[in-house]
Amino acid sequence: MHTHQIYRLRAPASGREALVEAEVDGVYVDRETGEELQPVTRVLPLAPSASKLLRSPENLLECRRCKQLIGIDVSDCPHCGLRQEATNGDS
Ligand SMILES: [Zn+2]
Repeated sequence: MHTHQIYRLRAPASGREALVEAEVDGVYVDRETGEELQPVTRVLPLAPSASKLLRSPENLLECRRCKQLIGIDVSDCPHCGLRQEATNGDS
């Protein structure tokens, strides 16, 4: 059972966003700016997902073209289809 939901959080002043496995009533602070992050949306599990990795910041990258967050193990952007460059070197 999943007990945590992934939320997209945003720092109001800087506009920085993070995807966090958060409790609904938890308080989350940006690691770099110290701002309190406000929940923007709940990130629903997308099934079937092209990525098997958890939707956490370490496992996501921003598509160069459409700026959507996608899993680092995905070879093509599911949003715009842009081929992603390999990030780990084992091609
Ligand atoms: Zn894209």
